[in-house]
Amino acid sequence: MLSFTTGRRILKEYFVASSIEEALAYLSAHHGEAQLLGGGTHLLPQIQRGEGVAQRLVDVSHIHPMTKISLQDDYLLIGGAVTLEDLLEEELVRQQAPLLLEAVQDMGSPSLRHLATVAGDIVSAEGLSRLSVALVTLEAEAEITNLTGAQWLRLERLFVRRGLSRVDSTAEILTAIRLHPWGAGQGMALEGGQRTRGQAGGTVLLGIALTLDATGEHLAGLVITLSSAETIPQRLGQVEEALEGQTTSEALHELPRLVRQVAQELAIPPQEAASLALRAFRRALEMARKRSLPSQGSR
Ligand SMILES: Cc1cc2nc3c(=O)[nH]c(=O)nc-3n(C[C@H](O)[C@H](O)[C@H](O)COP(=O)(O)OP(=O)(O)OC[C@H]3O[C@@H](n4cnc5c(N)ncnc54)[C@H](O)[C@@H]3O)c2cc1C
Repeated sequence: MLSFTTGRRILKEYFVASSIEEALAYLSAHHGEAQLLGGGTHLLPQIQRGEGVAQRLVDVSHIHPMTKISLQDDYLLIGGAVTLEDLLEEELVRQQAPLLLEAVQDMGSPSLRHLATVAGDIVSAEGLSRLSVALVTLEAEAEITNLTGAQWLRLERLFVRRGLSRVDSTAEILTAIRLHPWGAGQGMALEGGQRTRGQAGGTVLLGIALTLDATGEHLAGLVITLSSAETIPQRLGQVEEALEGQTTSEALHELPRLVRQVAQELAIPPQEAASLALRAFRRALEMARKRSLPSQGSR
């Protein structure tokens, strides 16, 4: 534990927690004065600009169970302190949730990915976070732990508005994320955002996960997540409902019009959203066809 000055604010203490219980006890003992720290890539610059409220920081990036990635009870379980680099290197993620790799490989620099954590990214609630959009598209849930226990919440429910999440990082910890592993007949793709494969990116980000039925002709499931620099990641429930059950060619035909309409209501550039949706849908469809059930054969 040490004290130091960052910008205009004097931090009284930097505490490295070794367990979830220890971190919660520290937050409780310094009610409202202490805040969690993951990799610090978002919070420390904020504090340096004099924007933070915390006088004490609780580093949770070394809590062992929060740094693990595993398969448990039909879920891929990812600890809140797992770094973006860990995600890139973990074989389980490559096999079970390739959309996360697609999300993270273009985020920041290698040194940023080495520090930044999954929980820190979610709690920062940035509209153009590729990781958050990918996790919402994969229907991930977050485990929020406080002194009264732990509960799982759908990830999209954590976002309030750009820069604000429902997780109170002065009192509770985002301890883990869980999602269902990649299944047969499923495809997923992410388009847009800050950077897309070496190109300068736009201001809109869109994720699609689709599931084909046993015939491989109809959409059995569809998730679409849309976000922009000014918003939070949001599921396009109306579009999903309208297209589920349709043939893939009907869905391809209808998708741009429906996405344009909803994007307009959300004040997100409609044309950009529609063309990202088309690109993501085509890629996800191709992936799903390659992974179709053996009885379907390859299409
Ligand atoms: C140069 C640079 C480039 C960047 N590029 C990108 C980019 O390309 N894409 C992108 O999305 N972001 C980018 N960011 C933003 C930032 O790095 C990410 O949002 C990052 O994932 C934050 O993670 P962290 O662990 O560093 O969070 P921290 O800074 O440690 O914390 C962020 C917030 O989360 C809270 N918190 C941390 N851990 C927990 C926990 N376990 N439970 C509850 N609350 C917690 C903190 O209290 C704080 O409010 C960039 C930042 C920098 C400085």
